[in-house]
Amino acid sequence: MSPATDPRTYDLDAVRRRVLPERGGAVDDSIPQLADADPELCGLALVLADGSTHASTQSDVPFSVQSAVKPFLFALALLDTGGQALDRIGIEPTGEAFDAIKLETSTGRPPNPMVNAGALLTAALVDGGDTDARTDRILRGLSAFAGRDLEIDEGVARSEHLCGDRNHALAHLMRAEGTLTVSADDAVAVYARACAVLVDARTLAVMAATLAFGGTNPVTGDVVVPPDVARDVVSVMATCGVYDGSGRWMRSVGVPAKSSVSGAIALSAPGVLGAAVVSPPLDEQGTSVRGRLLAEHLSDDLDLHVFGRRAGSAADLPAG
Ligand code: GLU
Repeated sequence: MSPATDPRTYDLDAVRRRVLPERGGAVDDSIPQLADADPELCGLALVLADGSTHASTQSDVPFSVQSAVKPFLFALALLDTGGQALDRIGIEPTGEAFDAIKLETSTGRPPNPMVNAGALLTAALVDGGDTDARTDRILRGLSAFAGRDLEIDEGVARSEHLCGDRNHALAHLMRAEGTLTVSADDAVAVYARACAVLVDARTLAVMAATLAFGGTNPVTGDVVVPPDVARDVVSVMATCGVYDGSGRWMRSVGVPAKSSVSGAIALSAPGVLGAAVVSPPLDEQGTSVRGRLLAEHLSDDLDLHVFGRRAGSAADLPAG
């Protein structure tokens, strides 16, 4: 094994060039805006403990965050319920697709916060008296993770709301089980708007870094969530973040992560760095094909695998 590269001098455009020839996967077509995504988009960014951001070409191209928002919704739900969200949602991997119409058999709870059922519920558990207030609180919370004011792509939100039949079905099922207390349509509306928040690889890397560094945004210095909340969220990313591909992901990349249908993946390497990769063509589990390759290169080159660190790695760099 070669020694780890210093992330401060890592050539992100070189690693990007390594994955560009890969042509596998298909762009998601669940809504027109995602179907129109540029399959050639490919970008990545890293954020280190001192708040420095290192980014490749195309790391500032905006896209809707989609399911990469789920760890942050879980964090906000934990914060706003004082941890009680953990009684309302399971934390076990499902081995099934992200939108499986399935709840825990004995409890009627969603299986975990990284699949759609769980994220519909976490979005509903965030503080706010109605959908607008809850959406506003989510947008402010996500902006604190990002260290800048984020915006919603209203066209994407409308399409998600209209085309998200399985999300409507899940919300109704949770109503029937008594798990969801707001109306099914309100729950889908808030979740759809959270999925439609615009980010880019740089921004998503700052958000992932905030979780990697115990809930404190390394760029702004703001404590967004307490360390125990960040720890809970990163733990569930490790076991459930890549849906029914989570086991394979942890073996080959070894960094807690969350995939999304926009082709972005947020990676939180605890105490080391936050990263984001984006490339729209997806594999059968909804994971970006080039994104996975980028993550494998990052993990290997920067020695990020949480169960296989070599000596003298990025984990040993001084903070601040
Ligand atoms: N907006 C998508 C949905 O709820 C997100 C799915 C994903 O990114 O995996 O169907």
